[in-house]
Amino acid sequence: MLEFELQGLSKAYSLPQEQRCVVALQRIDFSMEVGEFVSIVGPSGCGKSTLLRLLAGFEQKSDGVVLHRGMPVDGPSYRRSFIPQDSGLFPWLSIEENVMLPLHVKSFSASQKHQKAYACMERAGIASFAKAYPWQLSGGMKQRAALARAVAMESHVVLMDEPFSALDEASREAMDEAMLGFFREKNMGVVMVTHAIREALLLSDRVVVMASQPGRIFSTLTPPLPKASRHHALEISAMHEAILETLKGVV
Ligand code: ADP
Ligand code: MG
Repeated sequence: MLEFELQGLSKAYSLPQEQRCVVALQRIDFSMEVGEFVSIVGPSGCGKSTLLRLLAGFEQKSDGVVLHRGMPVDGPSYRRSFIPQDSGLFPWLSIEENVMLPLHVKSFSASQKHQKAYACMERAGIASFAKAYPWQLSGGMKQRAALARAVAMESHVVLMDEPFSALDEASREAMDEAMLGFFREKNMGVVMVTHAIREALLLSDRVVVMASQPGRIFSTLTPPLPKASRHHALEISAMHEAILETLKGVV
């Protein structure tokens, strides 16, 4: 089974004031394995956020097919966690309360909810901040809390739009080996839109490079080596350079 399968996916936005359409995405064909970590990079305006919103079910496609684990995506679902740039945590709830939130709809006892939330916070490395509020945490820690909540929700896939794009380190800090291991264990997929190309190369199974006008997939790269040994690898630096060169040409 595939996590996502996209066939001829197109999205046009109409601009009634200007009496024209913007083709944000043109005929995207792509498939992603269950549990795969895919990053999407590309110039500003090439349709990255549009693509992510279509995967989440927040946006209606104009044409084509979007399947999530074989089922058409026709609206938001708890099976797909969307983590916005600012982490999406509720500021008036503590970290623990935020992580516990998705458990309230299930028929768990109070102590079961606590246990599950703590297990998720432990794995995300934020259990010691359980009583803190989001504003008391760094960017990377908030991202961890958002990931813990996604795990508590038992979603199939996590969709992240430029997590802490201003702080390249933060997304990697949040997505460390422990977190990646957890996702692998649960077979959870990740789609991360980022302009931190190096982060994408270090964390991903595949990197999708998009081009704009119209928004489309330009190439799909598979970083070599196991993730743990990529940090100082020349192959990764070379791939980084190649993506930067590509992006200069596709803007
Ligand atoms: P990216 O995330 O890669 O910067 P977006 O997906 O935000 O790109 O946008 C892709 C294109 O679609 C851009 O030309 C943008 O102006 C246009 N667009 C995005 N959202 C809307 C909208 N709600 N209405 C009209 N045009 C939009
Ligand atoms: Mg965007």
